[in-house]
Amino acid sequence: ATIKKVKERGGSNISVLTPDDHERLSRKAAIEKHLIYALDRKNLQLLYQPIVNLANGKVERVEAFVRWTDSEIGVVTPDELIPIAEENGLINKIGSFVVETACLQLKDWKSKNIDLQISINSSIHEFRDKDMAKMLLENLKLNDCHPSSLMIEITEKFALEAEAERSIMTQMKNLHQEGITFALDDFGTGYASFRYMLLLPISSIKIDQMIIQSITKQERIQKLINGMIQFGKSLDFQVTAEGVETNEQFELLRAMGCDSLQGYLIGHPMTAADLEKWLG
Ligand code: C2E
Ligand code: MG
Ligand code: MG
Ligand code: MG
Repeated sequence: ATIKKVKERGGSNISVLTPDDHERLSRKAAIEKHLIYALDRKNLQLLYQPIVNLANGKVERVEAFVRWTDSEIGVVTPDELIPIAEENGLINKIGSFVVETACLQLKDWKSKNIDLQISINSSIHEFRDKDMAKMLLENLKLNDCHPSSLMIEITEKFALEAEAERSIMTQMKNLHQEGITFALDDFGTGYASFRYMLLLPISSIKIDQMIIQSITKQERIQKLINGMIQFGKSLDFQVTAEGVETNEQFELLRAMGCDSLQGYLIGHPMTAADLEKWLG
């Protein structure tokens, strides 16, 4: 990496790393070191954000987000954590933690008569482990949960790569047959190849929050979002809008016939205990 950097700068002299590079690399090293311990001690947390169905006003699902605050490093956001974990292979352990925690939570809610589906985010690296599907189904079974109580969110990048990897396609199809559903996350920001939408067992699309948040800015953007919603619905996808923050966005999306909404306007990601209070 050092040599590459030097080359990129076009210098023929052997320059040293800048102070910024040093800071970045030492933070990354610290994250890697502490993450191993945190995962061993299950010292991470899941927060849950409600997703509301517009037809009946009910919370139909919650999306689980990983959170990690290290006593020395401080808060590490998923946007920083996930790419590092994907690079060093710890993403599989994060994935196992997320699946275990979500299944335990489903079991706990079931015992409290709280009927919610949990949606988890998955990186393609997790599915490159041939035992991913097995691990998922075992965790569900162990906690007496039906596979349909779990949804898996994948990005367009994931979908595009999965199309070319037979073993990932097979695992996804097996999971789908068992009842697990898949959603296409951040729809509209990625590669927009529509082929994989028909090839992969996807049942929902989630329109990206950047697009949703620009809805009130231009009529053309409204037309675009309306088009995305009608396109999704005509193919029998459940359409969810992410990142809804204002009443104006809410009303426009409702008028367009969007199936469900998620965002700070409805609720922030919260602990399971806070969500239970929020529901009540
Ligand atoms: P995502 O799945 O698209 O999640 C949406 C992100 O937007 C979350 O950030 C959420 O907290 C935030 N959000 C929700 N509603 C609003 C809103 O109304 N306004 C704004 N401004 N933001 C909102 P978060 O938790 O930081 O996660 C970022 C990304 O990291 C996620 O994007 C997802 O791709 C990834 N990620 C998060 N948790 C996990 C995980 O457990 N495993 C994996 N593989 N990836 C994860
Ligand atoms: Mg997501
Ligand atoms: Mg998203
Ligand atoms: Mg995202």
